[in-house]
Amino acid sequence: MSRPPLLCCVLLALASLASAQENPEFQKLFPDDAKVERVAEGMKFTEGPVWLPISKHLVFSDIPSNELKKFTRKDGLSTFRAPSNNTNGNAIDAQGRLLSCEHSARRVTRTEPDGKITVLADKFDGKPLNSPNDLVVRPDGIIFFTDPDYGLPRGATKEQPGNYVYRLDPATGTVHALVKDFDKPNGIALSPDGKKLYVADSGRPRHIRAFDLADDGMSVANGKVLCTIDKGAPDGIRVDADGRIWSSAGDGVHVFTPDGQLLGKVLTPEIPNPANPNGPKVREGAANLGFGDDDGRTLYITARTSLYAIRTNVTWAGLKR
Ligand code: MG
Repeated sequence: MSRPPLLCCVLLALASLASAQENPEFQKLFPDDAKVERVAEGMKFTEGPVWLPISKHLVFSDIPSNELKKFTRKDGLSTFRAPSNNTNGNAIDAQGRLLSCEHSARRVTRTEPDGKITVLADKFDGKPLNSPNDLVVRPDGIIFFTDPDYGLPRGATKEQPGNYVYRLDPATGTVHALVKDFDKPNGIALSPDGKKLYVADSGRPRHIRAFDLADDGMSVANGKVLCTIDKGAPDGIRVDADGRIWSSAGDGVHVFTPDGQLLGKVLTPEIPNPANPNGPKVREGAANLGFGDDDGRTLYITARTSLYAIRTNVTWAGLKR
């Protein structure tokens, strides 16, 4: 049976926007009428989108503007917190509290329900962290975060000997260096069962590595390269409830099977170049992504000056755990 003409057009639009491969397994991840929408614009460099399930809105970072933004479909864009200490990656713990990586304050913080900010970590081995970039939290509260040196404040000295991946116990403040051999560890995520840790290296390798994570989170084993990003570099990553890895890339979001095979790409639309409005159109490179809305099925993409959204048929692994 042939499809109605309108539906054909929608499917073609989805294929051109969302999939370089037109893989049916990839197409199943999206409703037939799904499209990438530019839902907010005018920022400087967006990062760290996370859905706050209690207050029911998205929070994301505009790093150079030193601001955390708030977004809902109904009310649009507003300021959540400014200054933000150039916050980058954000996450939500099991109690629904916002966890943030602050570049210029070189620390990981938690925002309490009353708005008070608790510092969870700002040192390792007695010395300041570089500039925490992104984080993920387990249901038991243990946090894993990356600490490349991208966001070292101007004039500040790098005091850590490397760019490490850390385990943080917020109950005790204990910070433990978990992996030390990354160039620029960046996005970080857990498998739905919490037994695998994924870390993106946005430096020279431009790949995502997978590790078996010990139950106490104090060690990893069997590290291997899971996949390499073929356009730009991997920055933020998230895992859906079926274990697929969704990675930011230079042209949008690349989606991989749990064993690292590329399923397809969610491409950000071509828009006028903010730096050269009369020149060729550009696709804004994605820096991070997060699943949100009440059902957790909307993929939000922070890409340079914009926030994009597309409905999906998947849910974020963090909702299932
Ligand atoms: Mg990042």
